[in-house]
Amino acid sequence: MKNIFLYCLVLALQISFIIFPQAVSDTGSEKRLEQHVSVLAADSLEGRGLGTAGKEIAKQYIADKFRSFGLEPYNSGNYFQKFDLRVSLVRIPITNVVGVLRGSDPALQNEYIVIGAHYDHLGYTYKNETNALPGIAADNDITGSGTEKIIYHGADDNASGVSVLIELAGYFSVNRHLLKRSIIFAAFDAEETGIWGSKKFIDNCKFSVNSIKAMFSFDMLGMYTANKGLVLKGMGSLDGGRQLAIKLSSVSGITLTDVSADIEARTDTWPFGEKGIPAIHAFTGEYSPYHKPEDTYEKLDYVGMAKIKDYLQTLISGISSLPELLPSATFAARKSPYALQFDFGTKIGLGSSNNEFPNDYFAAKSIFSYNAGFYIQMQLGRRFAFQPAVLFISDGSKSPEGIFRRYSATVPVNFHYNVVNEIGGLVKVFSIAGGYYQYSFGGKNGGAAIDFDSKYNKEEFGLNFGLGFEVMGIQAEYMWQRSLTKLQRAAGVEIYPAKWFFTFGYKLF
Ligand SMILES: [Zn+2]
Repeated sequence: MKNIFLYCLVLALQISFIIFPQAVSDTGSEKRLEQHVSVLAADSLEGRGLGTAGKEIAKQYIADKFRSFGLEPYNSGNYFQKFDLRVSLVRIPITNVVGVLRGSDPALQNEYIVIGAHYDHLGYTYKNETNALPGIAADNDITGSGTEKIIYHGADDNASGVSVLIELAGYFSVNRHLLKRSIIFAAFDAEETGIWGSKKFIDNCKFSVNSIKAMFSFDMLGMYTANKGLVLKGMGSLDGGRQLAIKLSSVSGITLTDVSADIEARTDTWPFGEKGIPAIHAFTGEYSPYHKPEDTYEKLDYVGMAKIKDYLQTLISGISSLPELLPSATFAARKSPYALQFDFGTKIGLGSSNNEFPNDYFAAKSIFSYNAGFYIQMQLGRRFAFQPAVLFISDGSKSPEGIFRRYSATVPVNFHYNVVNEIGGLVKVFSIAGGYYQYSFGGKNGGAAIDFDSKYNKEEFGLNFGLGFEVMGIQAEYMWQRSLTKLQRAAGVEIYPAKWFFTFGYKLF
């Protein structure tokens, strides 16, 4: 039985992986990515901190690349979206670098996907600034001459993301036919001081918020191998995005470790998510020297970065061509407490049933049983779901009189509690508790029709308990059911139906 069940699961997984176009690999991007990072994370750029000349050089480097690719400038004549950041009475000038690539579909090119990556970093400090405590600073020259400048290079955070953004802009500028919607490439300023660049971008954007259908933030893409995968946090916020990302990852050979619908505060995806725009943070992970002076150019995994760039290229091209870009129900439900997430699917169960004689020496034997039908699932917050179903069921038992088999309609009504909640949006493990109603309309008892008119109960109520897991819309459950209603009508005849099933559910929409 277990084998049939596993076979069904494997078969369904295979069917769900429909064939997608091969990932386009772009030779030479590895060298170019390395080149961009070597410039952006160089000592001479002083860690690209607020107010440093180094950040100005980075800004100009990105704008020059945008110009060489022929991106449409954000302003007439230049790529700079400028604003002032006010810190008490001080005004600090901030600049996002923004360029646009028009989509090739006349009907969809007025819809936009933003691809962002912050180009600022922490800047630099002096050795005696951090440990200038009495008695400890003896090694340092506190007078200022000869103090050691400590640069926070920010290679992974986030020269890596900016480099992938530059390469994607270059790639799509000569492959515009792969984009149906338009892409806004935005290198954000002032992320490290409080995601100011992305906030100001969306608050003052010359394109309407409603025309921006999705957003990506590339922030730290340089440590793929060390982290054993790529995080696409927020991928589940785009309707159909999670499925597309997973399908394409198998084509590109990319390991995804998180495709949840979560959009985190303190990331450049947040200001977009707050406005209801599906937003995805592409990130190789915390195993990184980020926010340390050791976050340097030579530590990054350029083979991994090139692989990620090829994958994101295919994914963004795929998303730009979807007929509709909408927030997922999960994301919409989190935005509004009144929006409920509904799933509808089909399920089939294979198992065994018996009729128990708890007060009798007599024992019947169990028989093969099955059920099949449809379910609706309502998500009630993060952990609870409510799942009623309507199933056809065949159950019974085997006694010396022969096989007793009923045919019925049943309505199991269950609550699911997520014991393990969305491991990166990929897997859920849940416990099941609820009840059922069953109405029998026919059957055989040792060859003769079951006498439902005088001897056997037509209606039955009972309890359900079980455990299940869900992977990509496919649910697998083990459920045990015990009747509280007696099988026979006669007083004193204590027989209670019981059954268990391995159930396999497939979400249709
Ligand atoms: Zn960052």
